[in-house]
Amino acid sequence: MSRSDVGTVGVLAVAVQLDLRCALAVLAAVLRPGWHFAFTTRMGALLLGCWLRHGVFLRDRHYPPVTRTIASVYTAPIYCWVMRKIALALLLLVPVALSAQSRAKNVVLFLADAGGLSTIAAASLHAHGEQNRLFIQRMPHVGLSDTSTASQVVSDSAAGMTAIVTGQRTHNGVIAQSAATVRGKQDGEPLKTILEYAEERGLSTGVISNDSLTGATPASTYAHVNDRGKTAEIFQQVFAPRFGDGVDVMIGSGRPGITKALIAAGLELDALGTQHDRPILSSLDQIPADARRAIVLFEDNTFDVQAAVETAHRILSKNKKGYFLMVEVDTHTNNLRAGLDRMATMDRVVERTAKLVGRNTLLLFTADHSFDIQLRGGRFGEEFLAGVDEAQAKSREEKRSDVRIPSVRMDNGHTGEPVIAAAQGPGAERVRGFMKNTDLFRVMMRALGWKELGADGLHASCFMLHA
Ligand SMILES: [Zn+2]
Repeated sequence: MSRSDVGTVGVLAVAVQLDLRCALAVLAAVLRPGWHFAFTTRMGALLLGCWLRHGVFLRDRHYPPVTRTIASVYTAPIYCWVMRKIALALLLLVPVALSAQSRAKNVVLFLADAGGLSTIAAASLHAHGEQNRLFIQRMPHVGLSDTSTASQVVSDSAAGMTAIVTGQRTHNGVIAQSAATVRGKQDGEPLKTILEYAEERGLSTGVISNDSLTGATPASTYAHVNDRGKTAEIFQQVFAPRFGDGVDVMIGSGRPGITKALIAAGLELDALGTQHDRPILSSLDQIPADARRAIVLFEDNTFDVQAAVETAHRILSKNKKGYFLMVEVDTHTNNLRAGLDRMATMDRVVERTAKLVGRNTLLLFTADHSFDIQLRGGRFGEEFLAGVDEAQAKSREEKRSDVRIPSVRMDNGHTGEPVIAAAQGPGAERVRGFMKNTDLFRVMMRALGWKELGADGLHASCFMLHA
């Protein structure tokens, strides 16, 4: 509970001592999300109620008899005695209700890979013909996240995701190892990820990606290697977790690439799974109904992400302690139409997930870095991507990286401006203003009511930008 929360509870405590209506309104306010925002107006109404209760003017002879009768009931000693007892009981419930309301049981992190602000705006125009029509643009809490790495302004997926899931910055190409790492040459300290914290505390965990399951984004949640290209090493770490029993549900693409990398390392995909009693399935249908863990590895990225999220939620929510789930959708727009279609699809997945999970779940949407796409024109009522297929083909033919159509100019590269973080659910209010990608780790940790350990094994004292 923050200092302002404590202050609020203090004022509420005085209020509930005064009147039952106050107490009920307090409870209603506390149990309602975003209650503190409505606090000022509520308190005005409550104090008016308390004033009336004392019958200060209700008993005035100018008022009709019925009003004066009500006032006499309100001021009867027995009424006051009963009200005080009820108010006291409710007062005791306030901190309980507050802590239950403010803590998340589950966290779902949606990661739009390369899904910067301009990609989001373009996806809304492409899919809905208007600005601000995506669900993520209507989420109640929005901040801007600086995606820089420990050494560079522009991030790749490895450093970008490492910052979000560990709260520490590293260098491009490095998967959840410290900034002391030399990419491809020397290991740094492994950085403990939010998924590993969840495993350590007995929660269930899941990773979904329509990129390869060993791609830099998903890998940063469960593996620690000095180069994102070490596919075989990353995949082997699935079966050698540092905390708990490792990722419980993994659903994603990349079967051919992972198989090939394992063979080069003298290993075989199915044998590896069997050896660790974790069969590597190839479709969602193969998951047994009573499964509490599953690995599904698809041939390509065309699988139904929504179905994957629903499956993961069904399995992971069997754990009464809660779960952490990361869902990555590749929204790189080097192919403009495909990228914007995937962004719009991802938005629908976020919206449906918001309906699927309970109010006890923090949903956090963000991107690991932005992408070089600019809105340059376009008219409402006309097709947003008019001419894109021809322009894309011409660009390929001429071996250029950029694509230009009247509405959009795209250059094939990551960019360094801030991306959005949007959130709803317990702890979402900490997403606001200009933030760092590393702050998002602390948003998730604090939502779950957890503290991170510093390198010395002690709790970090200076914990959060927006305390
Ligand atoms: Zn990325």
